[in-house]
Amino acid sequence: VVLRLILLGSPGSGKGTQARMLQEGYQIVHVSTGDILRRAIQAQTELGRLAQSYMDDGNLVPDDVMLRLVKETLDAPRYEAGYVLDGFPRTVPQSTAFESMLLQWGAALTAVISLEVNREVLIHRLSGRRVCPECATTYHIDQLDPSGELRCTRDGALLVQRKDDDAQAVAIRFDAFERETLPLKQFYRDRGLLREIDGSRATGEVFKDIQRILA
Ligand code: AMP
Repeated sequence: VVLRLILLGSPGSGKGTQARMLQEGYQIVHVSTGDILRRAIQAQTELGRLAQSYMDDGNLVPDDVMLRLVKETLDAPRYEAGYVLDGFPRTVPQSTAFESMLLQWGAALTAVISLEVNREVLIHRLSGRRVCPECATTYHIDQLDPSGELRCTRDGALLVQRKDDDAQAVAIRFDAFERETLPLKQFYRDRGLLREIDGSRATGEVFKDIQRILA
């Protein structure tokens, strides 16, 4: 069977980390709309110019932009073997439109996995998060050698802090999550697709739960 997964969760809930593990373990493509947008900003494309001000402040990029992006992205042969969506959909209009897209493609979702993490843990994770600008792997300052330079263990690039991981943008992102994205849980519960797991534990423990869901 082809796996088509959505990872749902607040900023800092571990969607990116789990999606990368799923990509490696299940040979499905990790699709991070945030990473796609950040690359577009770096490359100064039209999409990047459109998205940058929203992203820097911690606001959501408009639905029509995101829907066009996802439609163009997923409508390619490499996604036929399955994918895990990290960061999309994020609003009810996005999930409704995505549902029609899937219907058109004759594709069904396997599951929507919601990573539940309390606010205290989220703030700790986001405030200490560092990312590789090359491959987008995330780290936490707690895991890194405080005396040395903060470099990516995969490609050696110097790690950076995301602009929207500062306290002000994080507050706006939490707000957007609660207002716009949390209602998606009910949307997918109604369709029998929602699986909630405790995302506050260690990475490997969370992944084991996901494996159990997919078994
Ligand atoms: P992320 O890396 O998933 O935390 O996304 C970073 C930022 O990209 C978000 O704060 C939004 O500004 C934007 N973004 C990513 N995915 C979406 C989406 N599905 N809808 C709207 N904005 C998005």
